[in-house]
Amino acid sequence: MSENLKIAIQKSGRLYEGSMKLLKECGIEVSNGNNQLRVQAANFPVEVFFLRDDDIPEYVQDAVADIGFVGENVVTEKNKSVEPIEKLGFGKCRLSIAVPKNGNFRSIADLNEKKIATSYPYILGEFLKEKNINASIHEISGSVEIAPRIGLADAICDLVSSGSTLFTNELKEIETILSSEAVLICNKTLSAEKRVILESLLFRIRSVKKAKNNKYVLLNAPNNKLSTICKLLPGMKSPTILPLAEPGWSSVHSVISESDFWNVIENLKANGAQGILIIPIEKMIV
Ligand code: ATP
Ligand code: ZN
Repeated sequence: MSENLKIAIQKSGRLYEGSMKLLKECGIEVSNGNNQLRVQAANFPVEVFFLRDDDIPEYVQDAVADIGFVGENVVTEKNKSVEPIEKLGFGKCRLSIAVPKNGNFRSIADLNEKKIATSYPYILGEFLKEKNINASIHEISGSVEIAPRIGLADAICDLVSSGSTLFTNELKEIETILSSEAVLICNKTLSAEKRVILESLLFRIRSVKKAKNNKYVLLNAPNNKLSTICKLLPGMKSPTILPLAEPGWSSVHSVISESDFWNVIENLKANGAQGILIIPIEKMIV
């Protein structure tokens, strides 16, 4: 019987939705209706294991799972022997040091001989060592943000995304230690057969990511501006140009990257483009 690639994802929490959505966008159908621990995909040789995120690096290291989707923060903290393969574009956050908003601490140097509460003792310990700061680390597993208020610690080191949790707890960030997003990690001794399945999955993941970073653009342009407009829109190979029914005008179709999107749109308008339509792309194979 041929093998399945075993994928570990978070059972519930902030990475669950993003992980399931990515599998779906890759055309992999997984139903987790009955809250099961493992589910075989209907139409792709993978089996999905639903686990606590903290356990994923170890399970991938020990080949209980072949690959996992997990935050870079957890991968770094657990320090297991796994291979990070691909950033997945969701679960973005940062690990930061924060202090009471109205207190006396201004920078990390003020934290010498102080106490910092965190769920990330390894990353924080390495960071303090590197910066020569002699603070004590108080490890707690949840609700780190309340530690200063209840007198458990002087500062915290915790994950931040919007900053609203810090704001409601009257804390301010003074240092970012690590930027993180979900990544695909892989066992270091995958069989050749499983590597083939992984390559096929990676091809799909990269196509989905590329599509998200690009938009399809359609616009009308006066023919005398076409060469300038085409230079602004190189597209995948070159833009498509079709004549409009109205003489002297053409319709231009191309692909535009999300990163310089607004700049390009402004330039297109300045060069006479009209009726600009921007359409999301579902998959992009180059
Ligand atoms: P589990 O029960 O699986 O152990 P958890 O409570 O440890 O779950 P979540 O809060 O669901 O974990 O966070 C999972 C991951 O989501 C984090 O490790 C991090 O990579 C990412 N993440 C993104 N934004 C945030 C945020 N604002 N706070 C916490 N985690 C975030
Ligand atoms: Zn966790």
